[in-house]
Amino acid sequence: MTPRERLDQLHPEMTAWRRDFHAHPEIGFEEERTSALVAERLSEWGIEVHRGFGGTGVVGVIRGRHQAAGSNRAIGLRADMDALPMDEGDGVEYRSQNPGRMHACGHDGHTTMLLGAAKYLAETRNFAGTVHLIFQPAEEGLAGAKAMMDDGLFERFPCDSIYAIHNSPDMPLGTVKALTGTALAAIDYFKVTLRGRSSHGAHPHQGIDTVAMVAQVVNALNAIPSRQIDALESAIISIGQIHGGTSDIVLPETVELRGSVRTLKPEVRVRVEELFMRAVTLTAQACGGTAEIEYRHAYPATINTADETVRAAEAAAAVPGVTEVLREGNPILAGEDFAFMLERNRGAYLMFGQRGADKGGVPVHNPGYDFNDDLLPIGASYLAGLVEQELA
Ligand SMILES: [Zn+2]
Ligand SMILES: [Zn+2]
Repeated sequence: MTPRERLDQLHPEMTAWRRDFHAHPEIGFEEERTSALVAERLSEWGIEVHRGFGGTGVVGVIRGRHQAAGSNRAIGLRADMDALPMDEGDGVEYRSQNPGRMHACGHDGHTTMLLGAAKYLAETRNFAGTVHLIFQPAEEGLAGAKAMMDDGLFERFPCDSIYAIHNSPDMPLGTVKALTGTALAAIDYFKVTLRGRSSHGAHPHQGIDTVAMVAQVVNALNAIPSRQIDALESAIISIGQIHGGTSDIVLPETVELRGSVRTLKPEVRVRVEELFMRAVTLTAQACGGTAEIEYRHAYPATINTADETVRAAEAAAAVPGVTEVLREGNPILAGEDFAFMLERNRGAYLMFGQRGADKGGVPVHNPGYDFNDDLLPIGASYLAGLVEQELA
């Protein structure tokens, strides 16, 4: 039986798991129920289970029944388990039962697809080598992938290559995007405190006006992507917050400015940071004030290695129901912590379309979003087929 035939049989069961995860969402590092269910199912299917990586992370190990000639290759398959801190809209009968928590990015579906693949692979073991199933916590901004790595994930479970998938409501069901090189952006966060000298609104010349200063700093920052980075490269500096002042007639002593920076290439990331530091520091100085800058590197860019992306694309194209595998297209300026795993290992991160005729088209991180269950057997078949292909 092929992966798709078996996973079609498991489709109703997988749909039930997915909807149960959906109804019980848990945010980053709080995935107690979810990881317990994952571990329980893996054990039930005779899979060796390891817990406690990155807090709630779970690793399952499946060994193939064939002997590889002179080697024991290992593949890592990763799914994220966390939900988002937001309320779900009214839409589905299995809607979130946890107020302020919602599976709005489809990680309920990712976890379920990896479970489906795990069940098939544990039943058949039709490969030579080892599969490491990596169920990670806290993808949404909290770097759960890195937390698992800091707990020795790849020392304990070394992988020759690693793979992950994300659903995409922007792409029709049946289409897959497999981009060699950069698939997703690097994200950094900044917090700037501009310091001047408070004064009466009638006597700005007696103080150092931080409101005038922040206006100059905003302009200086906006000029970086448009004037100082090659127009053919990608960089975004988005200021999300400005706070300052308590009165209409007092010029504030300090103003705070916060936001994020997104880039696609490591060298552009470094350059934007340098330009950022210079623009803020010197603009504050030119206004007679000073700037304190906190600049935090969050996620690196997600960069797919060439050979692994080609082979992942082949495995995806072999799944019945996959109609098109796009090998070219634009990366997305969102971030993904699988990037940390790809800094350490060869591998690929693929996008699987989930937009159907009447469902699956609402964007992720939206209160009306829902993972499309029709993608479950497709994604799970890809993961299982990839193992059989790579560890033949
Ligand atoms: Zn997300
Ligand atoms: Zn996501």
